[in-house]
Amino acid sequence: MVEAKADIALIGLAVMGQNLILNMDSKGFVVCAFNRTVEKVDQFLANEAKGTKVIGAKSLQDMVNKLKKPHKVMLLVKVCVKLLQAGFAVDEFVKKLIPLLEKGDIIIDGGNSQYTDTQKWCKQLNGTGIYYVGMGVSGGEDGARYGPSLMPGGNPEAWPHLKPIFQAISAKANDEPCCDWVGEDGAGHFVKMIHNGIEYGDMQLICETYHLMKDVLGLQQQEMASVFEEWNKGELDSFLIEITRDILNYKDKDGKELLPKIRDTAGQKGTGKWTGISALEYGVPVTLIGEAVFSRCLSALKDERVQASKVLPGPTYKFSGDKKEFLEHLRKALYASKIISYAQGFMLLREAAKANSWNLNYGSIALMWRGGCIIRSVFLGNIKDAFTKNPQLTNLLLDPFFTEHIKACHNSMRQVIAQAALSGVPTPAFSTALAFYDGYRSETLPANLLQAQRDYFGAHTYELLSKPGEFVHTNWTGHG
Ligand code: NAP
Repeated sequence: MVEAKADIALIGLAVMGQNLILNMDSKGFVVCAFNRTVEKVDQFLANEAKGTKVIGAKSLQDMVNKLKKPHKVMLLVKVCVKLLQAGFAVDEFVKKLIPLLEKGDIIIDGGNSQYTDTQKWCKQLNGTGIYYVGMGVSGGEDGARYGPSLMPGGNPEAWPHLKPIFQAISAKANDEPCCDWVGEDGAGHFVKMIHNGIEYGDMQLICETYHLMKDVLGLQQQEMASVFEEWNKGELDSFLIEITRDILNYKDKDGKELLPKIRDTAGQKGTGKWTGISALEYGVPVTLIGEAVFSRCLSALKDERVQASKVLPGPTYKFSGDKKEFLEHLRKALYASKIISYAQGFMLLREAAKANSWNLNYGSIALMWRGGCIIRSVFLGNIKDAFTKNPQLTNLLLDPFFTEHIKACHNSMRQVIAQAALSGVPTPAFSTALAFYDGYRSETLPANLLQAQRDYFGAHTYELLSKPGEFVHTNWTGHG
């Protein structure tokens, strides 16, 4: 009989799994490690986990035997990018685990699975007594090792058993763990997906800022690094601004800057795309993340762009204004666009929560993102405060703190976008942020004409302002 001494098992010994195991070990938990390619278990024990309390398993049965009850098994395995194949490795393991587990046991999927897969497993395990948790893990390799942001959701009965482990290993913001129960079934993975979408948006905004600094202002990389360094001391203080400064400062082995040598085609693994698909499904205008995903797609058309650059003309305009003044417009535009992007992300969270009956705590979600993860920033503290003050807040832009900031910044967005358009520098994220802002604050939009067009060609009917709720059709052509 094997002695059951491990607090939790972790399957998947790639970068995230290994680091999360070492994190758990450093917090005093005994972890049993397992991997599809079983030889990697011994390699891990002999190398990275040498000198720790981590134990290994030779099979799934051996792993379960080594666990204290209720058995807790966490998966950190590959998810497929293609929509219909997502969750393949997770599905394989869950199917194998079910016969080995008993009532009260818990399976945790910590990978970037689609929230619908988590919903599927919660439903399928319903009635078996086995609890399923889908947990978003953010922070990359370093986060996993020293304190990630963790977003667990699924069967709430599992949470009391997991809370001591996950809150101990998570990042802390002002001594509070960046990990709390998110909600039922796929809520944790949905929140992680929105996090990743927002990450796409933040990165795209910073890239556009860099592009404008380079091609409108003609700044050298060192100068740009100093600007980001300065910005990082104020309201833009965040991990992504910090690493951008470091990247701009980075010199290759030959002493030259590395950044200009990197091919300008962006990769993506799918979570930004899933956010865009969800936004379309739930009918929420999450336009900035959408543009960030499409910008990566456009960047990937490198060969076509090279050809087009030789035939399609752009403007000859040269910026001749005050560089310092423009940089301040740029800082304000970046900040305002970030507010708009997060407002859009939270709008989608609210709509999905309504549709799936999740009781989301938006302040707590902002706190989970406040530390440990890629989008960590001082700004998320302000978002947490906004939702703590008013949990029913319909839109972040309507919180007095953010309304004031937008008031102070929206004209800078206009300056930046105008200069970008005159100079021929693409700013899809900045532009869509302003377009959304102007649309959201418009009492009247031209959708009256749209309704008339729909009624004209399809008899879709329209509503008169004077008779709300009454739908009428007009015979626009006068033909029979
Ligand atoms: P990964 O490369 O995504 O996955 C590697 C692991 O998955 C290995 O243990 C591999 O086993 C296993 N695996 C692959 N295909 C499998 C299959 N068909 N059946 C069973 N197992 C299979 O590793 P990772 O980068 O550490 O990421 C792990 C999870 O965390 C992923 O879901 C990822 O999306 C998520 N995540 C990653 C990051 C990051 O920064 N990397 C951040 C947050 C979340 P073998 O060794 O046998 O091949």
